[in-house]
Amino acid sequence: MISIEEALEKILAYVNILEEEEKPILDCLGQILAEDIYSSIDVPPLDNTAMDGYAVQASDTLNASRESPRFLSVIDTVAAGYISKYEVEPGTAIRIMTGAPIPKGADSVVQFENTDELTRRESATDQQLPTEIGVLCEAEAGLNIRRAGEDITKGSMVLSKGVVIRPSEAGILASLGHNKVMVIRRPVVAILATGDELVDISQPLPPGKIYNSNTYSVSALVLHYGGIPKILGIALDNEDSVVASLRRGLDADMLVTSGGVSAGDYDIVKDILAKEGEIAFWTVRMKPGKPLAFGTIRGASKGGKVKNIPHLGLPGNPVSSMVTFEMFVRPAMLKMMGKKNLVKPTIEAVLEDSIVNSDGRRILARTVVKKRDGRYFARLTGPQGSGILTSMSLANGLAIIPEDKARMKAGDVVQVMMLDWSESQP
Ligand code: AMP
Ligand code: MG
Repeated sequence: MISIEEALEKILAYVNILEEEEKPILDCLGQILAEDIYSSIDVPPLDNTAMDGYAVQASDTLNASRESPRFLSVIDTVAAGYISKYEVEPGTAIRIMTGAPIPKGADSVVQFENTDELTRRESATDQQLPTEIGVLCEAEAGLNIRRAGEDITKGSMVLSKGVVIRPSEAGILASLGHNKVMVIRRPVVAILATGDELVDISQPLPPGKIYNSNTYSVSALVLHYGGIPKILGIALDNEDSVVASLRRGLDADMLVTSGGVSAGDYDIVKDILAKEGEIAFWTVRMKPGKPLAFGTIRGASKGGKVKNIPHLGLPGNPVSSMVTFEMFVRPAMLKMMGKKNLVKPTIEAVLEDSIVNSDGRRILARTVVKKRDGRYFARLTGPQGSGILTSMSLANGLAIIPEDKARMKAGDVVQVMMLDWSESQP
């Protein structure tokens, strides 16, 4: 039995970063940018106003106050998206809306609140805009002006190769007028459930059978971490059935099976890996998840070269398959996607239950982590049987009980690998 770290190292040694592809900016959220992005424009393109108000010459507002306003004649109104054809000269102002380019001649914008705009409009009997405005305070040059290029200057490198495309990056790309971008492609993960007892969720449930839930939890994890699940369905507990199903997944970047790896069934996966590829290891010093199997399956030969596809044989128990996915499939997927940070954030928390470690494996206990008085507390989500999938749904973290700790008690400080920081968690 090898440690979690050794297992992960072996798996990562078999996976490589995938190719680049061009994608519309909304289809590549979470993917890694594969090119440096330079701007061919200034953002914003022109000096423009940050406020609704009046574009003026600052020198015209000298000594203006509520008691002694400076009156200017209004020569135009300009909305965002339009350029005034007039020029602000001494004694004049142009009414201007947020985002509109600053007219020629103006060097500052006095917001409506600092003019008598409101009183004029309230007392006006018609819908006419004021032809004269009183400025109620002094404005210095540059007031309320957003400079051309203040966000992004023309010619500068805005996003560099290797960044993750998130909503703000999608927005930046759009602000530069890019509708497509080069990214590292998403891995296709073929998913096969094994077990004579399994029934697809579209079918009625006959006596003695259970629904195949792993395909859905595992596919959801693949989607969640940015991959593309390729569902291969359910195979029976015999070599021919599993091999036939796996063959349909040979164009994927990774094969993930569930079940058929625990002691009783182990021979199926071992024999398949031996015949169809190579086994790298079986069993990891962890709980849940001990019977994890890993190896490669020979794919189709392309131009005389045979592609070996990494195959993770996850244990069939629903919790074990999810936990081993988090520990091994997720980092492998992230490496393929070109990500550098493969680890989940870990926090320190005060354990609220006692946990016994009977056989020297590392326990990953499903816990719900909550913050109280500036500290994190981790409480077990209930019975820890690896068939109890609801305990996974309640958890937002996995408390780590080291191999060499026979027992941890309430009050002890533990490391918790956070599965989710989402506000939707309990
Ligand atoms: P195995 O690893 O095949 O020995 O399976 C361990 C346990 O997980 C058994 O109780 C199986 O019935 C259950 N199991 C295996 N595959 C699935 C699946 N796809 N969905 C739900 N439960 C499963
Ligand atoms: Mg089975």
